[in-house]
Amino acid sequence: MDFLNEKAKLLQQGEIRAMFDKAKMYENVISLGIGEPDLDTPEKIVQAGCEALKSGKTHYTANAGIIELRKEISKFLKNNHIEYNPEKEIIVTTGAMGALSMSLMVILEEGDEVLIQDPQWLNYKAQVKFFGGKPIPVPVYEKNEFKLTAKDIEKRITDKTKAIMINTPNNPTGAVLDYEELESIAELAIKNDLMVIADEVYHTLVYDGQKHYSIASLKGMKDRTITINSFSKSFAMTGWRVGYAAGSEKIIDKMIKLQENLVACVSTSGQYGAVEALKNYELTKELKEIFLKRRNLIVEQLNNIKGISCIVPKGSFYLFLNIKETGMTSKEFAEDLLEKEKVITIPGSAFGEMGEGYLRIAYTLKEEKLTEAAERIKTYVENLNLRGD
Ligand code: PLP
Repeated sequence: MDFLNEKAKLLQQGEIRAMFDKAKMYENVISLGIGEPDLDTPEKIVQAGCEALKSGKTHYTANAGIIELRKEISKFLKNNHIEYNPEKEIIVTTGAMGALSMSLMVILEEGDEVLIQDPQWLNYKAQVKFFGGKPIPVPVYEKNEFKLTAKDIEKRITDKTKAIMINTPNNPTGAVLDYEELESIAELAIKNDLMVIADEVYHTLVYDGQKHYSIASLKGMKDRTITINSFSKSFAMTGWRVGYAAGSEKIIDKMIKLQENLVACVSTSGQYGAVEALKNYELTKELKEIFLKRRNLIVEQLNNIKGISCIVPKGSFYLFLNIKETGMTSKEFAEDLLEKEKVITIPGSAFGEMGEGYLRIAYTLKEEKLTEAAERIKTYVENLNLRGD
C-alpha cells in the first residue's frame, strides 16, 4: 500500500545536495558549492547561547519568540526605516526557511501564481508548489547584471498572480537591486494589489558602495510585504536555525498560530544567541570584509581564464560564472569538472532555465583554497580547449 500523498510523491532532492552526494566518490575535493559561511559563529554569540542553557532557559518560549529578541529585531528594522510593533508584527522563525514556508502557507490558495526570478534559489519553487501555488519564472539577464526588473515582472502578471518574491542580495547571482528598481516593483505591486515576499538574508553582504534597501520601507508597501531575514548568513549562524518574518498584524498573527501547530517555537538558546548577535551588529562588518576580499580574489582569477567569465557580483557570497563558450551544458561542465579536477560547483540550470550556461560558485572558502580551486578550473578549461571538445 502506498500511503504517500500526491504532493509528497513529487518532492525531490535539490541539485545542490545531489552534487555533494556525487562528490563523496572522490578525495581531495574543493567545494565551491557550500551556501553558508565557512567561519564559525562569533564567540560572544556562542557564549550567550551557552549561558542561556546554563541558566535554565531550557523551556518552550512564546510561539512568536522571546520578546527580547522581537524588540531587538524591531530596533534593527527601524534603523532600516520600517517600524514594526514587536508584539504583533514580528515572528521569530526556524531560519528564513521557516519564515518563507509559513508566509506561503498563510497566503496561498490553490492555483495562485507567484512570480519568482529565474535563475533563483531552488527552494522557492519547491515551497510554492508544495503549498499549492504555481511558480511563474521571470527571467533575469547577465547583460543587466542579473537584476530583476519591474518591466519583466509586469509582462507576467495575470488575474491569478498573488505575490512577487524578491531576493536581494541574490542567491545564486549575487545581484543587488537598486532603489529605483524597487520603487518600480513597489508601484506594480500596489497597482495590481499583489503581496511581496522580500527575502533579505544576505542584507549585510553588499559591496562597492551599493546599499541594501528593504522594499517594505517604501511608501504604501509595509502592509503588503512580508520581510524575511535570518541570522544564518550575516552572523555565521546557519546551524542555529533562527530567522524572522515581519509584516502586517493580520498576517503575522496567523503565522504565529500556524507556528504553534508546526514547531511551537524556535530553539530557546538559539533565540538568546540571536539577541546577542543583534546587540553586536558590528560583527557583520567583519564577515563582510572577509567575503569582499575573497570575492575580489576569485573574480580576478576566474576572469583571467580564457573561455569563461563572470560579472562582478555586488552582493551575497556567490558569483554566476558564464561557461557558454565551452559549448557544454552547465550540468556536463560541473560533473566533468568534479570528476577531472575535484572541484564542486553547482550547475546554473539547477536554479532555473535561465541558469543554463552558468555555474554558481560560492566563495565561502579561505583565500588559499579559492586560489587552488581557480587553478584547477583553469587546468580543466585549458584541457578542454586542447581536446577541442
Ligand atoms: N533564502 C535564501 C536566498 C538562501 O540562499 C537561503 C540559504 O541558502 C535561505 C533563505 C535559508 O536561510 P536560513 O538558514 O535562515 O533558513
